[in-house]
Amino acid sequence: MKLSARTGVSYFGNRNPRHFLVDLEEIKSHHCNFIVHTFSENDQLFYKYTVAELIELSKNAGLEVYVDPWGVCRIFGGEATSDFAFKNRDVCQILNTGETAPGACINHLKVREFMLKWIDDAVEIGAEVLFWDEPHFFIDWANQKTANERWSCWCPYCQEKFKQIMGKPLPAFDDLRLNSDDAGELANEFIRFREDSIVEFLTMLCNYARSKGVRNAVCLLPHKERRYGVVNWAKVATILNLDIFGTDPYWLWFEQRVDKFVGDFAREVVQLSRQFYKEPQIWIQNFKIPAGREDEIREALAVAYAEGVRNFAAWSYYGSGYMSYIKSGNPQKVWDTLGEVYGQIVRGEWQ
Ligand SMILES: [Zn+2]
Repeated sequence: MKLSARTGVSYFGNRNPRHFLVDLEEIKSHHCNFIVHTFSENDQLFYKYTVAELIELSKNAGLEVYVDPWGVCRIFGGEATSDFAFKNRDVCQILNTGETAPGACINHLKVREFMLKWIDDAVEIGAEVLFWDEPHFFIDWANQKTANERWSCWCPYCQEKFKQIMGKPLPAFDDLRLNSDDAGELANEFIRFREDSIVEFLTMLCNYARSKGVRNAVCLLPHKERRYGVVNWAKVATILNLDIFGTDPYWLWFEQRVDKFVGDFAREVVQLSRQFYKEPQIWIQNFKIPAGREDEIREALAVAYAEGVRNFAAWSYYGSGYMSYIKSGNPQKVWDTLGEVYGQIVRGEWQ
């Protein structure tokens, strides 16, 4: 049996079902067959059953529904803050500067309990796939100048866990020499500890989600640099209850060439997915596309398609024209370009 292509788009910014119905028509006419609904902590607190309405409308329109922990705990990607971290300062990550980050620590038991409750709610409102997007230790994306100088985590839970696993105290930041070229074994141990913490966390989430009858998708940040948490991607791809494995090589965001950046990451995702029996997925940049460069969207899809990817998703609906931070220059053209190519893919014209 030939698997049909999957074409998705993420949706956020509007919580009014009346207006969503209009957008839903557009999403259908642009040949999407799944939708990724963001479900932030704010949504969970104040819009839970409104998001449930959006999900029901999506399903009635024939779309498969992913639900995304958007910015939840500031462990996952997304332009949303963490109410949980603000209210529970003892769960927060501690940076190398000694500052308390506005994000919770992956290794804290209260955070794990909080995430299981998030899964309960996401399943209750109708999730079919949970989308574990860009799991990472704290990165201050909005302050690029200082983001690269900050590392975490030195919270009591990380200190204790490191000691249990490694049999010695978590080294002081200065001893790790993380920002220098000659970082040695101590730094490698620290990096492996963070990576293993993320993998263990994801495994726990995937196991619980599977027990509730939903599927799991992971999207790793398109980096191999140590700062971003997971260097050895096979450790994630091998998670038993993970179904869909992918990354988001946003070439313009990271100032890279579309063919090489998307191609290299798509190749790796496909290779690991084949090795560990996952479905490969590639996210396509549909935000902050400068006017006049919309054709690169087609190129990104073509490059990933050529590598064997058949599950695509775009961030986000309508060229992200409703969020000033990431708005495209010509959102309509971004959206229409995506829809045109999605149409060709789902009609099988790219075979
Ligand atoms: Zn910690």
